[in-house]
Amino acid sequence: MAEETNLALAQAQDQEADDRVDVLIGGAGVAGLALAVALRQGLGAGFAVTVADPALDKSPNDPRASAIVAAAQRLFEAIGVWERVAGEAQPILDMVVTDSRLTDAVRPVFLTFDGDAEPGQPFAHMVENGPLHAALLARAREIGVVLRPAGIAESSALSAFGGQDLSVALAGGERLRARLLVAADGARSGIRERAGIPTRGWNYGQSAIVTTVAHERGHGGRAEEHFLPAGPFAILPLRHCRSSIVWTEHTAEAERILALPEPDFHAELERRFGLHLGEIAVVGPRRAYPIGLWIARAFIGARLALVGDAAHVIHPIAGQGLNMGLKDVAALAETIVDAARLGLDPGAAAVLERYQRWRRFDTMAMGVATDGLNRLFSNRSDVLRLARDVGLGLVDRLPELKQLFIREAAGLVGEVPRLLKGEAL
Ligand SMILES: Cc1cc2nc3c(=O)[nH]c(=O)nc-3n(C[C@H](O)[C@H](O)[C@H](O)COP(=O)(O)OP(=O)(O)OC[C@H]3O[C@@H](n4cnc5c(N)ncnc54)[C@H](O)[C@@H]3O)c2cc1C
Repeated sequence: MAEETNLALAQAQDQEADDRVDVLIGGAGVAGLALAVALRQGLGAGFAVTVADPALDKSPNDPRASAIVAAAQRLFEAIGVWERVAGEAQPILDMVVTDSRLTDAVRPVFLTFDGDAEPGQPFAHMVENGPLHAALLARAREIGVVLRPAGIAESSALSAFGGQDLSVALAGGERLRARLLVAADGARSGIRERAGIPTRGWNYGQSAIVTTVAHERGHGGRAEEHFLPAGPFAILPLRHCRSSIVWTEHTAEAERILALPEPDFHAELERRFGLHLGEIAVVGPRRAYPIGLWIARAFIGARLALVGDAAHVIHPIAGQGLNMGLKDVAALAETIVDAARLGLDPGAAAVLERYQRWRRFDTMAMGVATDGLNRLFSNRSDVLRLARDVGLGLVDRLPELKQLFIREAAGLVGEVPRLLKGEAL
């Protein structure tokens, strides 16, 4: 009888050992997958990393493209992902900014950016989210990340397991033990909510309509940002004579435009796009994304770290949301790798606090900057219009200031984590 009990106990312990991982990541978006790959690459096969996401067994359908800044490109190079998307990445060679009303016949250019962030390195590339996600998934599989097509269960209470591990329930009832849980489950993070971490921020009452257009003439790698009274209208260059559109409107107007029949949608689009690239044709699905500014009050909890949109959502006006998420990834990966190499527990409070100190201030600064930009431009005041145009005109005449902006936007300023410098961990 005693032998049977011992056997049952040993089997239960084996089962627990099998289900124990070093880091469990909830969310297989770009942030979650990039972190998983960086950790496996840095710490090798002895460090178990699992990514759980209910979307893993669904086909992806994100019509967006992202401006990937130079620092984020270096991260993708360092984790073996860039080589898989480089062929389809469109360098942004210059950028023009205009400020006008929709009815203005001519849109004067107030600000231009061109040149590289550093010699030979464009400050950003446009990469479509679909291929980027596919490349990350392929690299994660190649490097031994365990992928589980299940969500971190809605109902799971996150309870410390003997002080050393968390016990986390997946949808379906299975439990995993982890030394650290990472919330990479996006803007409406259920993990963050269950951990009791509130967010601060607001909705803008704006939505971003996204679609892809093909045009007759080449864009020459130029990105355009037209500040219209309802919000920015961005034309972002893609390969093969196409551009990605991010078109901000007040939410009700965005819903109206989204529901228009094809010819009417085309007419609204053409009013804003113009004919400078010849005839245009919509070649991708259209979708609207609500816009807000939300920043988590803390980026860490007990054996918990938040990355990407789970930690912060900002206005897409400067194309920086994912780039900020990748900064989180680089900082958290470096923090964990450094700790694990010293034999420290990756979920220990001191380790997580280093991560939080690294990322909170930078995130607040970017949140404030994008919020200010949106408030400055998304309005009809002629006085503000004059003030911002004078400001833009001044910046345009100061090449050193412009170069600083370019380096800042490229993510190359401040305390830059090693992965963002292209260095292996
Ligand atoms: C219109 C628009 C344009 C943008 N353009 C840019 C740009 O040019 N450059 C830029 O840097 N950023 C841009 N952004 C921001 C960028 O898209 C986001 O910051 C980025 O997608 C966030 O990635 P993520 O991995 O953190 O989250 P997500 O991509 O939201 O991934 C979250 C994942 O978590 C999963 N999940 C949800 N619940 C659970 C659960 N319970 N358990 C497990 N998994 C779960 C979801 O299925 C999903 O796969 C833009 C945003 C918008 C709206």
